[in-house]
Amino acid sequence: MQRWLSGLFASSDEESVKRLIAEQQKVGEVHARIDLPLHIVLRGARCLKESFSTLVEKYALSGDQRVQAIRLVSDTIDLAMEIMGQAYAISHDRNSRAEESYRLFAITQNISKEKDQQRAAVLHWENQMMFSQVVGKKGSELSRIQASDFGLWFRHKGAHAFEGSSESTAILESMEQIDNVLLPLFGAQIEGSEAQVERISLLHDVRDKVRSILFNLDSLFEQNNELESGRDVLTRLLNRKFMPVVLTRQIEQATKQNTSFAVVTLDIDHFKQVNDTYGHQAGDSVLQQLALILLNNSRSGDYLFRLGGEEFLLIAVDMDGSQIERLAEKLRGRVEREKLLLPNGHAINVTVSAGVSCFDGHPDYQRLLRKADDALYKAKSSGRNRVVIA
Ligand code: GH3
Ligand code: MG
Ligand code: MG
Repeated sequence: MQRWLSGLFASSDEESVKRLIAEQQKVGEVHARIDLPLHIVLRGARCLKESFSTLVEKYALSGDQRVQAIRLVSDTIDLAMEIMGQAYAISHDRNSRAEESYRLFAITQNISKEKDQQRAAVLHWENQMMFSQVVGKKGSELSRIQASDFGLWFRHKGAHAFEGSSESTAILESMEQIDNVLLPLFGAQIEGSEAQVERISLLHDVRDKVRSILFNLDSLFEQNNELESGRDVLTRLLNRKFMPVVLTRQIEQATKQNTSFAVVTLDIDHFKQVNDTYGHQAGDSVLQQLALILLNNSRSGDYLFRLGGEEFLLIAVDMDGSQIERLAEKLRGRVEREKLLLPNGHAINVTVSAGVSCFDGHPDYQRLLRKADDALYKAKSSGRNRVVIA
């Protein structure tokens, strides 16, 4: 706080003001990341301003000078709050959206199965509706597509998952039209040629709408592989996308339940040599096999990410310092011993270096990751194929 305050009033030239603005933005982002309520920050600012007004009384200043000093302090703090608040809002919004898409991702793990199920649900509704028609149910007795299995799924999950797409809007509109416009037009009487003609034309209209829903649904599922893109294509481990959400949750949980967890960053040693000697394809196969070793030697409650390249991250839930050291050491040993099969029939060994850090109560996950990274760097520089605890 002291550093922040003196920084705030020490800037005079353009360069340092720019730096100062960037600093306020960073603070706002950290606040969003650790979910610090904005009103608490604002209250802090108010307290600071109040204290300053009291403090200023102690100096022998003229009334004018006093007013000027208070105004300068007040305006400067307000400005900083404004910048911070804006960065907070943007960041917070982004975090909530990530949280939401993670939720959907977690629900729809198997997207091709989901697609088949929802297609079938649309057709089932259509079938039921045609049958009800044939047996002479009135418009008000026909079950609404919005209330069908498909309707519920789409309105509550699908529409969120595919938010903003034109297909999603079109599906919602088609369902509305079917329910609110077409279905009520079905009369009860099935006798009389005029009624028959009208009924058939209405059935065609419903069928057209259903076809359009199916068409849009297919295209949504095809385009939106994003739902699945929480996974890395090569190794099938999680990719970076949901790492902030998972870490934020772990921190929340550990804080609430007074438990601990740990992160381990792992990096293959001299991986470039594997590529250079055996080719990129062999390198890919090594990455896949390594991912399997890591998966098979961690618990199903843990999270495994491929952070990129030949770097992995394990989030080990409910673990303290000595347990995680054993686990990291076990992983390192398993990798070292395992013969990895290359496409050309050769088998090679690789080793990994690992940096470990344990949750220490600090709410910002970036700090946790930084500590693990520093430890990994130490593991590399002190000879590789080893585990270093932060
Ligand atoms: P160190 O022990 O210091 O980690 O050395 P290193 O060679 O493993 O590290 P460096 O960062 O120098 O090289 C990493 C290499 O990983 C470079 C790049 O060609 C390779 N790599 C990154 N992503 C992939 C991938 O998806 N497939 C393959 N086959 N290679 C990859
Ligand atoms: Mg490496
Ligand atoms: Mg690397």
